[in-house]
Amino acid sequence: MRILLVEDELKVARFIQQGLQAEGYEVEVAPDGKLGEKKAQSETFDLILLDVLLPKKNGFEILQSLRKDKIKTPIIMLTARGTTEDIVSGLDLGADDYLTKPFAFSELLARVRSHLRRGSQNKIVLKLADLQLDTISHKASRDGTQIELTTREYALLEFFLRNPGVLLSRPQLAKEIWGFSFDPGTNIVDVYVNHLRKKIDNGFPVKLIHTERGKGYFCSDKVQARIPK
Ligand code: CA
Repeated sequence: MRILLVEDELKVARFIQQGLQAEGYEVEVAPDGKLGEKKAQSETFDLILLDVLLPKKNGFEILQSLRKDKIKTPIIMLTARGTTEDIVSGLDLGADDYLTKPFAFSELLARVRSHLRRGSQNKIVLKLADLQLDTISHKASRDGTQIELTTREYALLEFFLRNPGVLLSRPQLAKEIWGFSFDPGTNIVDVYVNHLRKKIDNGFPVKLIHTERGKGYFCSDKVQARIPK
């Protein structure tokens, strides 16, 4: 999950960046409005945290120009002013949410998670590294090579990709994919995860499905990128 943080106050930027990185997110910082806008237009992010008062171009102007360019990345405005007017105009211009400074990091994290989750619910093609899954045609491919999946394997992979980096327990997977409460005596989840893993990871140097011993599974292109629940 890649986040763009457009923030000119160095201390604030570093605090947010380090906090989010510790949670497993990749964070790119832009220290002024022009740079922020350029990055948002030329690179792909899952979420943008956008300060309002910025040198060179303010947050509202950036927001407006991104929405005009049809860039639909969720945007959370960080406003120091916190007046109702500011908030209303931000939401009118296409912001998804706002946070009034100063805010608690836990509050920011909660909003970030919620918007990333929402964003991924609407996505048609889910991607992780070179793996792609089309949720309409149910076709999967890795590095351009088509992968045939059974119905259950597809459901499992979709659930993994909609929760990237999140540790999913066996009972959670059983309930989501098979719709029954988990019988600890069965190894059905492990059997299916292993089938899926063979199909998507065998022969590729970067593994995407990881096991956390005794706890469950998570998908990520980095072994250490699990997001704690
Ligand atoms: Ca500022």
